Amino acid sequence: MKRQQIVAGNWKMNKDLAEGKDLAKAVAAQKSASDVVLILGTPFIHLSAVSEIIDGTDNLHLSAQNCHQEESGAYTGEISASMLKSVGAEYVILGHSERREYFGEDEALLAKKVDIALAHGLIPIFCCGEKLDVREAENHVALVKEQLSGSVFHLSADAFGKIVIAYEPVWAIGTGRTASPEQAQEMHAAIREMISEQYGAEVAEATSILYGGSCKPGNAKEIFSQPDVDGGLIGGASLKAEDFVAIANSF
Ligand code: PEP
Repeated sequence: MKRQQIVAGNWKMNKDLAEGKDLAKAVAAQKSASDVVLILGTPFIHLSAVSEIIDGTDNLHLSAQNCHQEESGAYTGEISASMLKSVGAEYVILGHSERREYFGEDEALLAKKVDIALAHGLIPIFCCGEKLDVREAENHVALVKEQLSGSVFHLSADAFGKIVIAYEPVWAIGTGRTASPEQAQEMHAAIREMISEQYGAEVAEATSILYGGSCKPGNAKEIFSQPDVDGGLIGGASLKAEDFVAIANSF
């Protein structure tokens, strides 16, 4: 089975609403017709407006960057999975290293978020990846296995088959320091092997595994050419339509 090629932008806490709408319009206008699934990961308050802008554009989809782990209730300032679904989000980024680092999100909490997202028909883009000291100690594969085991390997094979994995070495996020294509391939192959051990080769072969970490137009082609890299989760370079579209055209 051919895996989906995906390029997802993570706008993080950037762009006011007018700027976000302009960016979405520019991506919709500049993207070429292709099978690559393009996803805009916007701040919560942009979702509704961007959903309307991209409605009907082929292979252009909408993602949130987080959701709360409970259905609803007294959680002031939080946003639920059903709310995201109601404004047109199809995906939700979960487990981003910034959420782990600054908001204390751990494996158990992320497992709940994954469950509630799937229960509401959202596709989690589940992020995993090691910090620099872990890589230097050569514990990066073991660490990523812990992250997957703690947050997504409890899923049934059916449910797991719906999610997208993003490998993002923390030392490469926003730093300008990209993993080499070989480093990316090594980890992506290891992740696919972990999935195969858990769910079998067919599920592993069908799972899209994205690379994230200082990916840009100048290095995307080499990274995406690796056999187990199915696209990218893009931070900084997703804030300019021409860069984002150029990355999407790098397969
Ligand atoms: C990210 O935050 O998911 C990311 C990959 O950021 P950047 O592309 O800016 O390194």
